[in-house]
Amino acid sequence: MGQVGDDLILIGALASRAGVSRRTVDFYTGLGLLTPVRRSGGNFRLYRPSDVQRIEAVRRLEAQGIRLDEITHLLMDPEAEDHTRCGDGSDRPCPADPVALKAYLITLDTQVKALGDLPEGVDHQTRGVLTSLVARAQTLIATAEVMTLVDGSTELGVRFPGAPGHERDPHAVVAVDLGVVNRRVKALARAQSDDIHRRLEGEGVRVVRGRGRLDGPHRVVVDGPDGAVGGLAGFDADTVLVAVGAHPRVLPDALPDGERILSWTQLYDLDALPERLVVVGSGVTGAEFASAYDALGADVVLVSSRDRVLPGEDPDAADVIEGVFRRRGMEVLSRSRAQAVTRVGDGVVVTLADGRTVEGSHCLMAVGSIPNTAAVGLSEAGVSLSESGHVQVDRVSRTTARGVYAAGDCTGVLALASVAAMQGRIAMWHSLGDAVAPLDLRTVSATVFTAPEIATVGWNAAQIDAGEVRARTVKLPLATNARAKMQGIHDGFVKLFCGARSAEILGGVVVAPRASELIFPVTLAVAHRLTVDDVAQAFTVYPSLTGSIAEAARRLHASG
Ligand SMILES: Cc1cc2nc3c(=O)[nH]c(=O)nc-3n(C[C@H](O)[C@H](O)[C@H](O)COP(=O)(O)OP(=O)(O)OC[C@H]3O[C@@H](n4cnc5c(N)ncnc54)[C@H](O)[C@@H]3O)c2cc1C
Repeated sequence: MGQVGDDLILIGALASRAGVSRRTVDFYTGLGLLTPVRRSGGNFRLYRPSDVQRIEAVRRLEAQGIRLDEITHLLMDPEAEDHTRCGDGSDRPCPADPVALKAYLITLDTQVKALGDLPEGVDHQTRGVLTSLVARAQTLIATAEVMTLVDGSTELGVRFPGAPGHERDPHAVVAVDLGVVNRRVKALARAQSDDIHRRLEGEGVRVVRGRGRLDGPHRVVVDGPDGAVGGLAGFDADTVLVAVGAHPRVLPDALPDGERILSWTQLYDLDALPERLVVVGSGVTGAEFASAYDALGADVVLVSSRDRVLPGEDPDAADVIEGVFRRRGMEVLSRSRAQAVTRVGDGVVVTLADGRTVEGSHCLMAVGSIPNTAAVGLSEAGVSLSESGHVQVDRVSRTTARGVYAAGDCTGVLALASVAAMQGRIAMWHSLGDAVAPLDLRTVSATVFTAPEIATVGWNAAQIDAGEVRARTVKLPLATNARAKMQGIHDGFVKLFCGARSAEILGGVVVAPRASELIFPVTLAVAHRLTVDDVAQAFTVYPSLTGSIAEAARRLHASG
């Protein structure tokens, strides 16, 4: 091992140990499964010195325990017969473009899979060698994916050693340019907003800028630049939809100043990464920002008033996230209620209810939100508000005032963009007299965007423990999943709940990278009342993380 070309030697050795003949090896070669790679004499270079991103990819791969000789093979252009093609006249090997490499590996994998029914004359020991080739190809694909990601990361504000500004620092590590990140965030948000604006106007909707309030249930008054005389404009309406959202809650002794003490809306104005960020609040918003800033390289302290982070989430999922946070070096202060935050010089001091203090360069307050329902004329128009100030709505978004509907965070139903949009659609369909299915929160999927992510749908563990529904549960750690192993995923699980008798899938939890994408099959199962057998009998790709969802369904079938 250790030289280019060992792949062929290794497989040759495996083949002979397995009693596979030279003819079979020729057969693989003919299929393109084995590619003879020429040995390169002397000290060839692994990468172009100017290609700092690829250097960083190699360093990262080594840090993940992937051997340099494997990387060497990875970086070789597998289809290049002549490795002098790098264009610089040297006889060093030509590093493969990660995208091309990935495409090659996918082709190779497809070829292997196409051999499901092996041609005559190929024995089952051969199949063993081929299976190991699938694993090898997939493992390489995982590596290629990392390289592809690294290749595109400059645009996202990631800076590598050797990049402009880092050339002379031999100890430079991968860093983030927060100014670039935040400018990109705001530009994307603005572009999205402009797109929607244009589309609305294209559909014939008149957009009026200004602050609106109800003047009775059938009239809206707008105060703003587009108003008529004195900036005021009034609009009569048969139907009014109130969608005023919510704003960050503030504590009287921890008022955001926009510089060091920040709400989540102010965080995007930062130009440089906080040295030490104290996040107050470990709900979804606090946990997501703590996870993100920790990954960006800030020293993060998470102040949580509860026993564990993410108290509203599946307890097993919250345990995984808290474990990951602590393992990465984040300081998590449990059962610690923040009472006051003061600015001291260039930093902040957070005082806890028990008198302890926590110092930081910045503090993010993430202690909930308040609906924007004050001074909007709602009560006067006959719209009932709850004690928390949320608009009371039924499942078709009607308020207590005829003709007035409400949607989104101001209703306090479920603070998700997808739910806000659905409430709005339902309101409009209902007001136009369409047949409409009332909002069904059981089929809403949601994600906590930590790393790894937590995605959930349907009934949850707390409801099952409280006896609200009789259900069976299976939890499979991802550590046993082949794709997870290849991708170096160590944390996470798939959990499914099914009806104790009906065996219908009632809900599920996925904790994994991109769990937000993986939850969809479970959502489909919940929405269409599929049984564990329906899910267990469906094919999943091998290897894949979704394989664990089908496997969990098979375990539920077996335990039924
Ligand atoms: C940090 C964070 C991350 C989130 N991430 C996600 C996520 O990943 N996925 C997800 O599904 N949800 C997410 N959410 C929740 C999501 O943003 C909200 O559920 C969604 O935006 C609610 O939409 P809305 O229309 O009710 O309110 P908003 O999006 O807040 O819109 C309300 C609008 O009304 C305007 N307004 C208020 N009062 C008036 C008035 N009197 N006159 C005129 N205009 C007024 C406000 O300025 C605002 O523009 C996140 C929330 C936060 C805080």
